[in-house]
Amino acid sequence: MPKRKGMTMRPDANDTISPAPQTGVTRRNLLGSAIVAGGAAALPIAHADAATTERTVDVLLIGGGIMSATLAVLLRELEPTWTIEMVERLDKVADESSNGWNNAGTGHSALCELNYTPVNKADGKVEIAKAVEINEQFQVTRQFLSHQVDTGILANPRSFINSTPHMNLVWGDANVAFLQKRHAALQASPLFSGMEYTTDPKQISQWVPVMMEGRAPGTKLAATRSPLGTDCDWGEVTRQYIASLNKQDNFTLTTGHEVRSLERETIGGKKARWRVTARDMKTDEKQIIKARFVFAGAGGGALPILQKSGIPEADDYAGFPVGGSFLVADKPEITHRHLAKVYGKAAVGSPPMSVPHLDTRFLDGKQALLFGPFATFSTKFLKEGSYFDLPASVTLDNFRPMLAVGWDDFDLVEYLAGQLIMSDSDRMDALREYFPGAKDGDWRLWQAGQRVQIIKRDPEKGGVLRLGTEIVASKDGSIAALLGASPGASTAPSIMLNLLKKVFPNHLATAGWQAKIREIVPTYGVMLNETPDVLAEHWASTADTLQLAIPSPTVSVATTQRPAAMRVKPDRSPDLAL
Ligand SMILES: Cc1cc2nc3c(=O)[nH]c(=O)nc-3n(C[C@H](O)[C@H](O)[C@H](O)COP(=O)(O)OP(=O)(O)OC[C@H]3O[C@@H](n4cnc5c(N)ncnc54)[C@H](O)[C@@H]3O)c2cc1C
Repeated sequence: MPKRKGMTMRPDANDTISPAPQTGVTRRNLLGSAIVAGGAAALPIAHADAATTERTVDVLLIGGGIMSATLAVLLRELEPTWTIEMVERLDKVADESSNGWNNAGTGHSALCELNYTPVNKADGKVEIAKAVEINEQFQVTRQFLSHQVDTGILANPRSFINSTPHMNLVWGDANVAFLQKRHAALQASPLFSGMEYTTDPKQISQWVPVMMEGRAPGTKLAATRSPLGTDCDWGEVTRQYIASLNKQDNFTLTTGHEVRSLERETIGGKKARWRVTARDMKTDEKQIIKARFVFAGAGGGALPILQKSGIPEADDYAGFPVGGSFLVADKPEITHRHLAKVYGKAAVGSPPMSVPHLDTRFLDGKQALLFGPFATFSTKFLKEGSYFDLPASVTLDNFRPMLAVGWDDFDLVEYLAGQLIMSDSDRMDALREYFPGAKDGDWRLWQAGQRVQIIKRDPEKGGVLRLGTEIVASKDGSIAALLGASPGASTAPSIMLNLLKKVFPNHLATAGWQAKIREIVPTYGVMLNETPDVLAEHWASTADTLQLAIPSPTVSVATTQRPAAMRVKPDRSPDLAL
């Protein structure tokens, strides 16, 4: 049975208003609809509406993953009287990408993700601006999580965040030279304090013995190690957030219901609430939810919702699904011999999520070891989605951008093709490059989540592949969706704070919201990269609240000593200061 609780049925003038008429087939769904029409004919036909219930809320969150849950927690503090409903198509929340087993659980802070420190082709220097930005965002996450622990929304930090050193291990002259340069460049930022670099095999053996045992002697290796790394179970965070919200008034969770359509009501010629139709996944019973603001935090399902909303901003986007699988070992005699997340160097053309890494994970109260991800392909936009997801998302507007990306990003296509033909023994061979002594019987293959990479219309190239996340909102701020998935769950609080800026700018400018946000994220608006003393203070307090076992390093870089090049333009907040 769907869990629906605390719902506030408020009499609303809009209840008597007719929705705007459905426009039928539009440019937005013409192509996709035609493609799936044949397939749809083969599907079971939904029976006529047996019963329809209707209600009105202030905020409707589509999807029960980390993004919607983070926004719900945030809005609950900012506007306790707003009614919020979360609709999730599965029977449980946090069962798609946010589930701990469906992602890599890296607390992304650019300590070990080499793709955030590209080499500038013109001068050969390692650029660290992106790494600084991602790391700053993770500092916001640490504070956000700490605040939730302090207020009792989250309990038992060790159930969702654990100190796990973040490392790199690379081999070959070019990679060793790159890692050394990267380490030197990062020294300029206090955010990367405590990161060590070595080419000494003995030192690496002490850090990660299983990665060195059985390795051919004489190979030129280099490694970095940061004590600040974490492993996170974003599924546990999501479940705890929603469980806490569910105990409060004005919050309703409706599981087992899928949002199928959205349309905008009009009153007296003016646009009013969104009228959203959700269907029971088992009985097909219909529910109408009217909302002032709708957020599609539907993971891979966000693009189809955006397209169904009919807002013109959706026309610029298409999606390309890439899944991931991991090799998993859970025998304690193996898992307890490795404590680190160790990232290697990506193959040419691979998306960032496919950089191989050997990871300690803390899931369901146990320590596990995961290696991967291996890229997988399916036309589904969600792990539990439909094979029609990709074809149904093709429109007259996004068809050309999709073709352009397929043509221009041939490296990616080639990389994916190579991954898809991998056999079990190929995957074990890939693992043995990192864990030479790995034995076949100790590892099993696990299919993780789907990520829908953003394809965006581009005036010059036709279409470009975007590997980050993007908030797409209507001009009037009444609906927003989150597309893309990197760096993902780790930066959910920053993403949601940016969403507030886009859709609730007037509320955000009030003294009430400003004060509350700074209560939740005390350094909001402060660039910690520029203020090492504030950074040190924040590391100490969040490490304490989150029970991070490995002590934070001493922050040693003085603001005045750092070159201007390190000063990245903040993407957030000075504009927020009152
Ligand atoms: C292989 C892999 C590795 C990753 N590694 C990392 C990592 O190391 N660190 C990190 O921070 N991030 C990582 N990520 C990304 C991270 O998992 C995602 O960014 C994050 O979980 C997305 O959260 P979400 O709430 O947007 O989506 P989800 O968790 O997917 O939740 C969306 C929810 O919406 C529901 N839904 C969809 N459509 C509808 C509809 N029409 N009606 C009702 N409900 C709907 C779905 O059932 C789902 O429960 C990884 C992802 C993958 C796939």
